Amino acid sequence: MNSIEIKNLSFTYGKKKVLSDINISINNALYGLLGKNGAGKTTLMKLIVGLLPIKTGQIQVCGQSNPKEIRRLVGYLPQDFDFYPEMKVKDSLIYLGTLDNLKRFELNQRVEMLLDLVNLNQDRNKKVKSLSGGMKRRLGIAQSLLNDPKVLVVDEPTAGLDPEERIRFRNLLGDLATEKIVLFSTHIASDLESTATKLGILDSGHFIYDGSVEDLLNQYSGGIYETLVNRKDLSRFKEEYLVFEQKELANGIMVSFIHTGRPLDQFKRISPSLESAYLMKIHERRD
Ligand code: ADP
Repeated sequence: MNSIEIKNLSFTYGKKKVLSDINISINNALYGLLGKNGAGKTTLMKLIVGLLPIKTGQIQVCGQSNPKEIRRLVGYLPQDFDFYPEMKVKDSLIYLGTLDNLKRFELNQRVEMLLDLVNLNQDRNKKVKSLSGGMKRRLGIAQSLLNDPKVLVVDEPTAGLDPEERIRFRNLLGDLATEKIVLFSTHIASDLESTATKLGILDSGHFIYDGSVEDLLNQYSGGIYETLVNRKDLSRFKEEYLVFEQKELANGIMVSFIHTGRPLDQFKRISPSLESAYLMKIHERRD
């Protein structure tokens, strides 16, 4: 079975500890890794795909722990992946596949299939430099699938995409997850709301949640409220409560916020969004 097993994993850059004693088991199709910038997501992904050496702990991908074997099993799209700007879309994939030692005939077939999959068939002859951010990211996914990996690891794929491309990209990852493990990171909770069934939250190198989106939402079904606040009182309100959303209305500002004590009469309980449940989880750890 496809799986990623991580046991007692810690990692330091020099003296700086960036991952602390991580234990997770991923065998679910689409797994979202959520955490702020600097939480350690990229480091964890690089360790999983074998680009950073494991110093403490163990990682097994589909039962393999040898980095060479693991590299054969995984496809990886780093955040800063770029192609040669003057090269055409199809040629870029052929070029990278050749570097990967794929045989010419097989490679041609695979590239045709991947161009269809990521919806770039019409754009096959465009130069990479003329592609939008979203198209480049889809080309990146095609690149990471050249060797037909069992596990796909994608680092912050939705960063910088417009809303339409974001949705298209999330759907593509969802489709891929029907037959592979797709592990993808983001710092935006709503990226996971409709796609990931399981998620992990990484906070300053600590895994503080590993479970289903539904269970996380259920954990916080009690502590999220909204209320109307006068504009002049807003900054005082924010000092007292953790406000995660505010909407300008004609008669004031409607704020959504986290509150764990007894609610005031004017506070109206609302269902948590993934964003608010995520903030509560992080908040809880800091308290
Ligand atoms: P994320 O992907 O969640 O933004 P990273 O894994 O990139 O987090 O970074 C985790 C922490 O490790 C950050 O504090 C970052 O500054 C630090 N870091 C990342 N790469 C290096 C490096 N090569 N050398 C030293 N520190 C690093």
